[in-house]
Amino acid sequence: MTIIKQEDFISSISDSLQYISYYHPSDFVRAMARAYQKEQSKAARNAIGQILINSRMAAEGHRPVCQDTGIVVVFLKIGMDVQFETELSLQDMVDEGVRRAWNNPDNPLRASVVSSPLGARNNTKDNTPAVVHIELVTGDKVEVKIAAKGGGSENKATFAILNPSDDVSSWVTDMVPKMGAGWCPPGILGIGIGGTPEKAFLLAKESLMSPINIDQIVEGGPQTDIEKLRLKIYEQVNALGIGAQGLGGLTTVLDVKLLTYPTHAASLPIAMIPNCAATRHIHFWLDGTGPANFEPPSLDIWPQLDNQINVGSRAVDLDTVTREQIKHWKSGERLLLSGTILTGRDAAHKKISELIRRQEALPSGVSFANRFIYYVGPVDPVNNEVVGPAGPTTATRMDKYTDTMLSHTGLLGMIGKAERGPNAIEAIKRHNSVYLIAVGGAAFLVSKAIQSAKVAAFADLGMEAIYEFVVKDMPVMVAVDSQGESIHDTGPSLWKQNIANIRVETK
Ligand code: SF4
Repeated sequence: MTIIKQEDFISSISDSLQYISYYHPSDFVRAMARAYQKEQSKAARNAIGQILINSRMAAEGHRPVCQDTGIVVVFLKIGMDVQFETELSLQDMVDEGVRRAWNNPDNPLRASVVSSPLGARNNTKDNTPAVVHIELVTGDKVEVKIAAKGGGSENKATFAILNPSDDVSSWVTDMVPKMGAGWCPPGILGIGIGGTPEKAFLLAKESLMSPINIDQIVEGGPQTDIEKLRLKIYEQVNALGIGAQGLGGLTTVLDVKLLTYPTHAASLPIAMIPNCAATRHIHFWLDGTGPANFEPPSLDIWPQLDNQINVGSRAVDLDTVTREQIKHWKSGERLLLSGTILTGRDAAHKKISELIRRQEALPSGVSFANRFIYYVGPVDPVNNEVVGPAGPTTATRMDKYTDTMLSHTGLLGMIGKAERGPNAIEAIKRHNSVYLIAVGGAAFLVSKAIQSAKVAAFADLGMEAIYEFVVKDMPVMVAVDSQGESIHDTGPSLWKQNIANIRVETK
């Protein structure tokens, strides 16, 4: 009988979560480095470069790779010869580990979990509860697979019950373009096939916990039917040309993971969940000899990149820029922003739009006139930081507020990540506005451009408050210009065609 002590279990959970908040898995870093090497799309290569530079900065600084530090998901496989020396439930022990990790004073993580999915959606302040899946297995060890999943990628989870004769790879290839860029590609697709609907989702999620190894299948050829299917999906999805951040390019997925389970003769359930640029997971065992030990990776795994990300960008003074000037910015153009911006995301937009609807004034000190709004919910700062990691959140969620903001506040433009919907693009055109993107998943790098930060309004919203940032040389790209041209439409179309041409030429 193996005895697992409460403190060993809790500290292992806490330490693993701190570890994955700033260390990408080494297989992920290597796969991103390969994608960087082979990328031919300038925009996508620049984005992958930023993600790699950010990754190394996070590893060296022990600060989160992304401002969305995720919701915790744990798969526990508990040997039936294991006994826990604790008065707490497994859920309570995991939650205590999460609480300690999120409140670590050296590297506080961003609390993103709300207590109820409906109504007030109050933040629980310590990122609890975790989502815990428990399985009893034979043996005398506890196997732990733990991940911290960002909302942008979790929001793209999708599911279908196919007919048994349907083609799985066609379904995936149809679905991926519908996911947009809010999951911060390039990443990994986790696919679960079989069982029942809920089982398919669990398989999809658990499949993401294994290392990237598609390059071995590419080189050695697939050995099993599952490997054949993985390779087929990998090639078909990358041929879509979606590319890093949806800008158009060669690599949309770094790998495709797939788990299956027996199912009903009438059914073919399939679930798909992506892992994003902030892929965070780790796998360890507890055997009763103490807490798990997590070795830091060697810094040699990160490629040496000459930091050219800002070369060729247009410098923009945000404190003097005019609506007339932004009319000349073109979709796909890179900018370096300096000056004052205001922030705001879901909760702040909801409050602002309610104030506007009631014809009430915005909070004192908040004026969007001739300003840009940055969709972000930053991590709290430590030591001499102005602000913690502060990358963009998915702009699409703010689409429903865009016309109101542009019509009633004098707002000049927006900064976020991922594509905008047709209504938001129409509003951008109508108001001679512009939508800019920063690289999702490069949050620590982006935060280094922020010179000062103060809460301007709605302090009660925590990370969703309105901040005033003064930035210097913040790297962004024009995603939707004032003519309504969107890089998320033109980039993938161009690269889908380019990839088809490359394939013809190399045949
Ligand atoms: S990389 Fe993108 S999808 Fe992933 S956690 Fe960060 S912002 Fe969210």
